[in-house]
Amino acid sequence: MTRVAAFSPARRAFLRGGVQAEPALRPPWALDEPNFLVACDGCGVCIEACPEHVLARSEGGYPVFDPMLGECLFCEACVTACIPRALDKTQAQPAWRLKAGIASTCLAKNGVTCFSCRDACGEMAIRFRPAQGGAAPELDTDRCTGCGACVGICPVSAISLARPENPHG
Ligand code: SF4
Ligand code: SF4
Ligand code: SF4
Repeated sequence: MTRVAAFSPARRAFLRGGVQAEPALRPPWALDEPNFLVACDGCGVCIEACPEHVLARSEGGYPVFDPMLGECLFCEACVTACIPRALDKTQAQPAWRLKAGIASTCLAKNGVTCFSCRDACGEMAIRFRPAQGGAAPELDTDRCTGCGACVGICPVSAISLARPENPHG
């Protein structure tokens, strides 16, 4: 039986089918969105447990990952803290399918020297290739873990995270 214990605005909107066009970036190892919204009771313990302070409470009261706040280290502290198991390593693998995307507003793509994202990426997922007027960043999606380290560091906010393979993944 589907458990629907609380009726926050976000959950009511979800049950009515009023889901946001852009799915929220949930913490790592979150259940798929419908099951996450059922399991998560909005306690916020995962937010408090995160040593990097990259989790925040969304308007609807549920936790979201905000890469503008920093990098997820995949330390699992949020998963361990989640009593209702809305974050669950045994159910959700990989941690998420988020990948970085670099917009056309990137300085380097417009002839201005900038290597900030490459320098921030511990996975070496961003490489620069010669381009007209300089060198432009290219993402190696196989290497990218979606950690978000490159997002907040970009001086023109040209990088965002998304789920390229499955918008609800
Ligand atoms: S895995 Fe660690 S760093 Fe990442 S959101 Fe959870 S507690 Fe924060
Ligand atoms: S940090 Fe931003 S502006 Fe600089 S190269 Fe990377 S995407 Fe482009
Ligand atoms: S999200 Fe993380 S792994 Fe992916 S390109 Fe950015 S810094 Fe590198």
